[in-house]
Amino acid sequence: MKKLYDENAYAREFDAVVTAVAEGDDGASVWLTLDATLFFPEEGGQSPDRGTIDGRTVTDVQITDGEVRHRVNIDPDGAGALYRTGMTVHGIIDWEYRYRNMQMHTGEHIFSGLVHSLYGYDNVGFHLSDRTATMDYNGKLTEQQLLKLEERVNRIITENRAVQAWYPAPGELEILSYRSKKAIDGAVRLVEIDGVDLCACCAPHVKVTGEVGCFKLIGWENYKGGVRVSYRCGFRAMEDYGERLALLSKLSQTLSVKTEDLCATVEKLRDERKRLAYELVAKDRAIVRSLIAETAAAETGERAEDGRIAGPCVLFLEAADSSLLRYAVDELKACYAGVVCALLPVEGNALSWRYLIEQDGGDVSAWQQLLRERFGAKGGGPKNSVQGSVTAEETALRSALASL
Ligand SMILES: [Zn+2]
Repeated sequence: MKKLYDENAYAREFDAVVTAVAEGDDGASVWLTLDATLFFPEEGGQSPDRGTIDGRTVTDVQITDGEVRHRVNIDPDGAGALYRTGMTVHGIIDWEYRYRNMQMHTGEHIFSGLVHSLYGYDNVGFHLSDRTATMDYNGKLTEQQLLKLEERVNRIITENRAVQAWYPAPGELEILSYRSKKAIDGAVRLVEIDGVDLCACCAPHVKVTGEVGCFKLIGWENYKGGVRVSYRCGFRAMEDYGERLALLSKLSQTLSVKTEDLCATVEKLRDERKRLAYELVAKDRAIVRSLIAETAAAETGERAEDGRIAGPCVLFLEAADSSLLRYAVDELKACYAGVVCALLPVEGNALSWRYLIEQDGGDVSAWQQLLRERFGAKGGGPKNSVQGSVTAEETALRSALASL
């Protein structure tokens, strides 16, 4: 099988003869093996080329034992009948996607070549798809080193150095010193960036470094004792830049401030939000205290020895901040010696409540049992303190709890 992408990385269309057809396991695709292809398969961490064969979408391209297989979407009714061995097909690759991968991949070689020559680390992982673009190295790099590398890569891009790929003649390989991620079976293909890098690689590349356009670091993190670097090159860097500008402009419109004032504004908003949250809690607590004072003032029943009201107390709260349950129950226990129960509505559901029932040194399990049996409440806890959630009308809960 001829790898046409090896011979000319810039070709976009090709004719080839079908050498094998296998039905896909989904009934809506076939795997085609051809005598030649421009489709670069999923290999070396790079996602496969996209495109069409005879106008039908190619959804996957895999290589096994040197044979490239193309998964082609077909009409389920025509499965198997469309393609047969010996017929000629016409393939077109998605050039925009391929060219972006070529820019990204050549950018990776320049960066990895520099990492190797300057710091002696190897590129031990590479992932390139439309979602991710990362390079892994088996040694740590500081921010300063990474930024210096970025600057040097961009300099090499502007120097428009030649990029060449070839299969070395017998005997040539032994005398060359080249980077390689793994032991390679079969013929080794070398990619050389003039004066910068020599690396074994199977992927299509641009022919001069100027075509990489630009190289931008996106981020880095410690990874398996080394570093994982995210980056963008060329058109993908431009697209990324565009997305970030759009995001900044949307943020500054939303907040009605200039882009350069965004950080200060967001910090101010964060601090203000914190202050308001504290204020809200303080106000909610004040409301809880006055509600309890009002309820206690209306009590005419017996008093315990310590002066607290003897009877139980059930309190329905209005606020949605669940931390108020604990606060309300503690405040209630200061006024009531009996069982105290606070219920708080769950936000967005008028029939749903969270509850906390306590009596210091007492037993509130009968309350939990009633809520479970009558209303299917879910919850539990030790016998002097139970909490949970229940779904019921407030009036129904009030009358049920009053019976205890
Ligand atoms: Zn490569």
